[in-house]
Amino acid sequence: MDATPVLKIAYVVAAVLFILGLKNMTHPRTAVRGNYLGALAMLLAIVVTLFQLWKGDGSFPYILIGLIVGSLVGITLAVRIEMTAMPQLVALFNGFGGGASVLVACAELLKLTPERATIDVLIATATTAIIGAVTFWGSLIAFGKLQELNLFKNSFGLPGQQVINAVLALIALVLSVLLVQTGTGTTAIALYLAIVVLSSVLGVFLVSSIGGADMPVVIALLNSYSGLAAAATGFVIDNNVLIIAGSLVGASGIILTKIMCKAMNRSLTNVLFGVLEAGSVMDTDEIYATVRSTSADDVAMILDTAQRVVFVPGYGMAVAQAQHAVRDLANQLIANQTAVEYAIHPVAGRMPGHMNVLLAEADVPYEQLIEMDLINPTMEQVDVAIVIGANDVVNPVARTDPNSPIAGMPIINVDKARTVVVIKRSLSPGFAKIPNPLFAAENTLMFFGDGKSATLEIVAALKDL
Ligand code: NDP
Repeated sequence: MDATPVLKIAYVVAAVLFILGLKNMTHPRTAVRGNYLGALAMLLAIVVTLFQLWKGDGSFPYILIGLIVGSLVGITLAVRIEMTAMPQLVALFNGFGGGASVLVACAELLKLTPERATIDVLIATATTAIIGAVTFWGSLIAFGKLQELNLFKNSFGLPGQQVINAVLALIALVLSVLLVQTGTGTTAIALYLAIVVLSSVLGVFLVSSIGGADMPVVIALLNSYSGLAAAATGFVIDNNVLIIAGSLVGASGIILTKIMCKAMNRSLTNVLFGVLEAGSVMDTDEIYATVRSTSADDVAMILDTAQRVVFVPGYGMAVAQAQHAVRDLANQLIANQTAVEYAIHPVAGRMPGHMNVLLAEADVPYEQLIEMDLINPTMEQVDVAIVIGANDVVNPVARTDPNSPIAGMPIINVDKARTVVVIKRSLSPGFAKIPNPLFAAENTLMFFGDGKSATLEIVAALKDL
C-alpha cells in the first residue's frame, strides 16, 4: 500500500498542532498546554520523517545515531539547566537552528543534480546560507553576552561599522546571485562557503555592538531569523512541515521583535544594522554619595503602616529564587489589609515573560501582575515600592541621559513612589553596566542582601511586630 497520503496527512496534523500550540502560548494559563502541543507536533514530524527515510538511500542508521546523540544532549541540558540560565539556552537553541539549516542546505547542494537545480531551490539555498550563518554566530555572541563572559562584557564595534556591515551584506548578496546563476558543481559549493563565511562575520559584527536595552530585541530577532532559515531550508529539501513551522517561528519572532521595539522605545533599524550602543561615563562615587541603607526591622515597620505596596521584580529575584519568599511577604501584607501588586516590566530578567513565569511558579494570582504602562500612572499613590533584584528597569537615567545605553527605554517609575526599598546585594550595576541614581534618591532605602534571605528576614520581622 502507498503510505504517501498517510504521511502527508500526518504532516498536516503536525502543522495544525504547531499552530494550536502557538495559539495556546498567547496566554499564561494555557501556555504549558501550548508547549506540549508544540512538542507533540515536533515528535510527529520527526517520526514521519524517519518513516520516510526508513527505506531510503541508506542514510537511516546515521540519522538515528545523530538523533540519539542530539536527544541525549538536549535532555541533559534541559534537565540540568538552572532557571536563570534559560535565556542563554534559548540563545544557543536559536543558534543551533541556524547552524543546522546551513549544514542541511550545504548537504543538499553537494548532491544537487542540474535537473533539480531550479531557480527557487537555489535562491532558498543562498537565503539559508545568509540567514543561517548570521543566526548561528549572532546567537553565539548573544549567548556570551547573556552568560556575561568576560570577552563579551563590553560591546565593541569598528569605526564605520555600519558601512562595513552593509558592504559584507552586499557582497553576500552578489555571491548569492552568482550561486543562483552557477547552479551546481564545485564553483557553486565554493560560492556557498564564501557566502557562509561572509554572513558569519556579519552575524558577529551585528550582535557584538549591541547591548543595554537593545539586547532583548536582538534576541527576539535572532529567534525570528532561526525560523526564517528553517523555512528556507524547507524549500531546499522540499519539506512542507519545515516550511510551515519555520514560517511560524519567523513570523511570531518578528511580531515579538516589533512589540518589544515599541514597548522599549527602541529603533528596529538600530538593532537590525547593529548600531553601536551609546555610552556616557558616570562618576559612581559622586552618584552614590547619599545612599542610605536599612534593616529588616525598619522595612517591616514601614510596611506595617502602608496601604498600597508594589513589588518590582527583576533579574536578581530569578538569581536568588526569591519568588516564593516574595509571595509569602505579599500574602502577609494582604492579610494585614494592604493592597499588593507586582509591577511587570517587559524586559525585566533575561527573557521575555521571565518575571511572569517565576511568579506563576510561585502561584501568585495573575490579576496581581500589572503591566508597566498600567501601573506607572498610579506610581505616585504607592506607599512603598519594593524593588527586588531589579536595576536597569527602574533606572531613572533612561529618562534623563540621552547618551545612556538605556536612553529612552521606558522604566517602572518607582522613584515616584512615597518610599522605595531596594533589595540587592551591593551597589553593582545591572545588565547595562551603568550606575543607578535611584539607589541614592531621597525616598530610597537600600536593604543589602540576597533577595531570598532579605525577604524572609522582612517576613520574620513583620511577624514579630
Ligand atoms: P538587571 O540586570 O538590571 O539587574 C539585576 C540586579 O539584580 C543586579 O544589579 C544585581 O545586583 C541584582 N542581583 C543579582 N543577584 C541577586 C541576588 N541573589 N539577590 C538580590 N539581588 C541580586 O535586571 P533588570 O531585571 O532590572 O533588567 C534586565 C536587564 O537585562 C535590562 O538591561 C534588559 O535590557 C536586559 N536583558 C533583558 C532580556 C529580556 O528579554 N528580558 C534579554 C537580554 C537582556 P547585586 O549584584 O548588587 O545583587
